[in-house]
Amino acid sequence: MQWWCEQMSTASISGWCFTSLSSSSSTRRASLKKATLSPCVFARLSSASSSPSLPSLIRNEPVFSASAPFITPTWPREEDMGGSYDEAIEGLKKLLREKKELGPVAAAKIGQITAQLQTVDSKPSFDPVERIKTGFVKFKREKYETNPALFGELAKGQSPKFMVFACSDSRVCPSHVLDFQPGEAFVVRNVANMVPAFDKIKYAGVGAAVEYAVLHLKVQYIVVIGHSACGGIKGLMTFPDEGPNTTDFIEDWVRIGKPAKAKVVSEYGNAPLPEQCTYCEKEAVNVSLGNLLTYPFVRDGLVKKTLGLKGGYYDFVKGSFELWSLDFGLTPPLSVKDVATILHWKL
Ligand SMILES: [Zn+2]
Repeated sequence: MQWWCEQMSTASISGWCFTSLSSSSSTRRASLKKATLSPCVFARLSSASSSPSLPSLIRNEPVFSASAPFITPTWPREEDMGGSYDEAIEGLKKLLREKKELGPVAAAKIGQITAQLQTVDSKPSFDPVERIKTGFVKFKREKYETNPALFGELAKGQSPKFMVFACSDSRVCPSHVLDFQPGEAFVVRNVANMVPAFDKIKYAGVGAAVEYAVLHLKVQYIVVIGHSACGGIKGLMTFPDEGPNTTDFIEDWVRIGKPAKAKVVSEYGNAPLPEQCTYCEKEAVNVSLGNLLTYPFVRDGLVKKTLGLKGGYYDFVKGSFELWSLDFGLTPPLSVKDVATILHWKL
């Protein structure tokens, strides 16, 4: 296991690499400074402290709620496909015995069929029901049944310490990347891991999740995690800011991160697009952290110090994860200080 630090290190504790940054740091670091916040708050950076029995829920037949004629899948039956393999071979042999002149033709056709079947073999058909069943059987055998104490507790309720915003991208599941176990993290995933500003009409879904996490579950931290090669952020950087939308939802959604785009374009507008996207993937996290301050119950939690906010960035190309902290205070005069601490490590 190799721990390393991309930036200059000031301390290393238990494999966590603490790095101090300043406003004169490199452009990469600069991408993380000055969270975009409303003028009524300030942010201060802090150092971070196999023989499974089938589960009862699984049946050996599809379970559907819609009317059967509409969605009952039909599977090809052997008899519908021209009889058994043995019968087909016997029929071919009989034909060739009777008409030997067909031998070369049959050989050519068998060659074609063989080639086709080899293609089929290399791309086995995907069976979604089987995949889901296999996944649940594995989970139940390896986790559920081996942790009766944990799942017994979870049956009574949940008390996660984290609320996590992560992208819907299939490569960045926080439970996998950060090894969150059941009950550890209350997760919202959406395109480009955006947290919109408080809005009861447009973004009630996100608002309900934040409200429930903070007021009812009383999570201790909200973590917004961006990631490398984010398609949503690339969309934000490339969609025109004005003019008619070409998508029903995506453009309006990712424009939540417009302040991040504006900052990146102004500071790194001459950089290649992939580089700008990387900056924006991180800066958009800061915009979301700022937007969280527009939720009254989040502000209350910060004032009472029962709640903390953190930004994160998972780079699945490099295999690294960065974590930064923003401690918000409500004492005027209000300004945003540079991000002072980044945790960055790679296994
Ligand atoms: Zn993404």
